[in-house]
Amino acid sequence: MNAYIEKVLEEIRNKNNVEKEFIQAVEEVLATIEPVIDRHPEYENIALLERMTEPERLITFRVPYVNDEGKTIVHRGYRVQFSSLIGPYKGGLRFHKSVNQGIMKFLGFEQIFKNALTGLPIGGGKGGSDFDPKGKSDNEIMRFCQSFMTELQRHIGQDVDVPAGDIGVGEREIGYLFGQYKRIKDAYEGGVLTGKGLSYGGSLARKEATGFGLVYFMREMLKANGNQSLEGKTVTISGSGNVAIYACQKALEFGAKVVAMSDSNGCIYDKNGIDLDLVKQIKEVERGRIREYLRVHSDAEYFEQTSDDVPIWNIKTDIALPCATQNEINLNSAKKLIENGVIAIGEGANMPCLKDATDYFLANNVLVAPAKASNAGGVATSAIEMSQNSMRYYLTFEEVDKMLENIMKNIFNSCKTAAEQYNLGNNYVAGANIASFTKLAKAMQAQGIV
Ligand code: NDP
Repeated sequence: MNAYIEKVLEEIRNKNNVEKEFIQAVEEVLATIEPVIDRHPEYENIALLERMTEPERLITFRVPYVNDEGKTIVHRGYRVQFSSLIGPYKGGLRFHKSVNQGIMKFLGFEQIFKNALTGLPIGGGKGGSDFDPKGKSDNEIMRFCQSFMTELQRHIGQDVDVPAGDIGVGEREIGYLFGQYKRIKDAYEGGVLTGKGLSYGGSLARKEATGFGLVYFMREMLKANGNQSLEGKTVTISGSGNVAIYACQKALEFGAKVVAMSDSNGCIYDKNGIDLDLVKQIKEVERGRIREYLRVHSDAEYFEQTSDDVPIWNIKTDIALPCATQNEINLNSAKKLIENGVIAIGEGANMPCLKDATDYFLANNVLVAPAKASNAGGVATSAIEMSQNSMRYYLTFEEVDKMLENIMKNIFNSCKTAAEQYNLGNNYVAGANIASFTKLAKAMQAQGIV
């Protein structure tokens, strides 16, 4: 490996040794941009990689709230303002019990590259808390969000840092966060949060954008590799949250047959094809568990998830769309998917494949749509929401969806062109990293040593 990359990786492992997801994300990017670093030895002298891998600012704070039993609970809040090189910090908030500094930094780091790929003026950030909204009442969620925003409001603003949703943070939570921000600032600053409800500044098609964008990217990737289409293909989708549901909807529209979806407890397999209206009812309306699908479709099957087996990846499929969380496909799952004839992986979640799983897919000619590129439709549409807020004007669903589709086509073309420039064939994982890194490196050089 290039000596400069090796030196930087060594320092990062030493300095952040408990932050395993962050180290994993940096290793993955630096390994794939090696040919660019080889061509630019001048980067070492200006510490370009060291600067790109160190957040501009990392904020942690106390988030106390009172639960319905009257007991005070304290959680930890985070905001990682990773890079403002090409625009205000932008990235979601995650509320999940697993949230820690390493996960926040990995997500913030990925976000810089993803946002650069959209071609829009947005920097990279991420935030969240180890608070788990599952099983909490609406009032508890509201009190938690208000407490979280009471601190976060000091650090954000529509030209400074613009959070959105992520795992555990949907339209309901964004509403409570926005209400508290407005109350404290005594001003309507619409562009300070995205993923807002349609009644107070949200954008049509934002809810659908990440899932739709993933499938648009998949369609481009299949088209560029033998003119295949999604029509008639079998698809499995992990998760049953925002990204998974709308990926499913677009895949069905494109003529695919989705046979499995999941949540953190297990997966459903319906050989007749998933009844998406029922999944939406269970997940979006009732906030229930995916196994409840069987109460209507008793001929479907349910497989429990264990710590070492994610059963959805044992199901025969042409296309797998991991849309739940990081590191959900390990090498064993990758082998199983390939044994079962998978031809393409589309990453809806951030970093859903472990590095050895990705390497195994690529070595076995399975197409991989990398998260930074293939799930960038959500943040791109958030930027479109910010534009509408600034213009004080609303676009129609069709207008936003068309813009999203074009952005996803452009992102795919950037990944493809970068991979070809460096003779990497259809390795879009490397293509995505090279295309975004090149853009960021230019911006960093242009702005001097900051
Ligand atoms: P949601 O909270 O809406 O849904 C998450 C889904 O994934 C749920 O079905 C959840 O199941 C499941 N899940 C979460 N953690 C685990 C786990 N440890 N093991 C198995 N299943 C799990 O989140 P989103 O759909 O918004 O996000 C999903 C992924 O997509 C994340 O990686 C996120 O970072 C990424 N992403 C999201 C974007 C967006 O616009 N929302 C944009 C770009 C990326 P359960 O209910 O049981 O917890």
